[in-house]
Amino acid sequence: MITTAPTPVIADIGCSTAPVLRERGQREVFCGLTGIVWLHRKMPDAFFLVVGSRTCAHLLQSAAGVMIFAEPRFATAIIEERDLAGLADANEELDRVVRRLLARRPEIRTLFLVGSCPSEVIKLDLSRAAQRLAGAFLPDVRIVNYSGSGIETTFTQGEDACLASLVPFMPAQTADSGQELLIVGALPDIVEDQLLRLVRDIGITRVACLPARESRDLPAVGPNTRFLLAQPFLGETAQALEDRGAVHLPAAFPFGAEGTTDWLHAAAKAFGIDEMHFRSVVAPGRERAKRALEHSRARLEGKTIFFLPDSQLELPLARFLHVELGMIPVEVGTPYLHRQHMAAELAQLPVGTVISEGQDVDKQLDRVRASKPDITVCGLGLANPLEAEGFTTKWAIELVFSPIHGFDQAGDLAELFARPIRRRDVLRV
Ligand code: SF4
Repeated sequence: MITTAPTPVIADIGCSTAPVLRERGQREVFCGLTGIVWLHRKMPDAFFLVVGSRTCAHLLQSAAGVMIFAEPRFATAIIEERDLAGLADANEELDRVVRRLLARRPEIRTLFLVGSCPSEVIKLDLSRAAQRLAGAFLPDVRIVNYSGSGIETTFTQGEDACLASLVPFMPAQTADSGQELLIVGALPDIVEDQLLRLVRDIGITRVACLPARESRDLPAVGPNTRFLLAQPFLGETAQALEDRGAVHLPAAFPFGAEGTTDWLHAAAKAFGIDEMHFRSVVAPGRERAKRALEHSRARLEGKTIFFLPDSQLELPLARFLHVELGMIPVEVGTPYLHRQHMAAELAQLPVGTVISEGQDVDKQLDRVRASKPDITVCGLGLANPLEAEGFTTKWAIELVFSPIHGFDQAGDLAELFARPIRRRDVLRV
């Protein structure tokens, strides 16, 4: 007997099929080195050695606000002018710096060699350097490389490149291992603990995180891995996991009551958890989050918001602000659009929202001026000039450095947007 399967319905709601405004002009965004600022806190036994210039060192020091008395877990091996001129053997110098560092810091378990614009310009092959040095330092120290250069990466892509570089080192699952959940993306420990507790209460006991808190304690991966992305900027890492057989669980990202519920629900469905049990476990947190949002809703409802591309958090945050707080997104810019990972977010944005990818900063600023949004989310370099023109702004970087995921952070996340509008209202009065 021939049976016909129902024709799949392509979601045609919200901005699922909206045209994307693609711009490839001048952009104003940090490079991927910035990710070291939060990654070094997440993996205390790892060290990040940027192979770069004094500019790279200054970026890290000012972004991280390094305390001069602290022994930091990152540094820059400065490529001097004679290296750039090809007068010195940069490989020899790098080996010398690494040997000195590892002799002085025996607690380092993983050393990341992080590429930059200058190391790319002189074509210093850091993957070969990592292999060469691994021969000398394994098994005590694992040596990994990735690029955080401004030529190849923007801002949060540094975390993506870092996590993707770890995937080949993840052990393979054994043939008899059951289904396991992997949460992918660096989260503050306290937020990660909250989400892990919820996942376990739902009934999923085999759960691990990437990055792991011990950099050498990498979880196994294979066809029994089901993974949830905790961060929306991990396209390369997701691809590397899929290449190892892991299966991505599509979901909205865990921002706000609805996003967090949807994210947890994707895992519950994949693990065959009883629906009533799932609902009863998430109900208290979901209610807490909804109550926490009420306070900001009065101030944000009906207000317009414009996101300039920065961290790739833009689409999930716009969805959260629209669905849960009644804001109206005018334009949502993102450095890169991963349609598959963003499907649940795009479907919930209101029809008519401009979705843009990449940047041509002057043209985009003209659109900001023309649409006169109540609040504009942008990088540090654009916020001050816009404020001077009378626009209310929110620094995008604050959203990356603040704990904003999960039920218990929903109120604080809303408040991050409500505060600038309240300040504006007070100043106007
Ligand atoms: Fe600047 Fe490139 Fe160094 Fe980033 S990697 S700080 S963009 S020189």
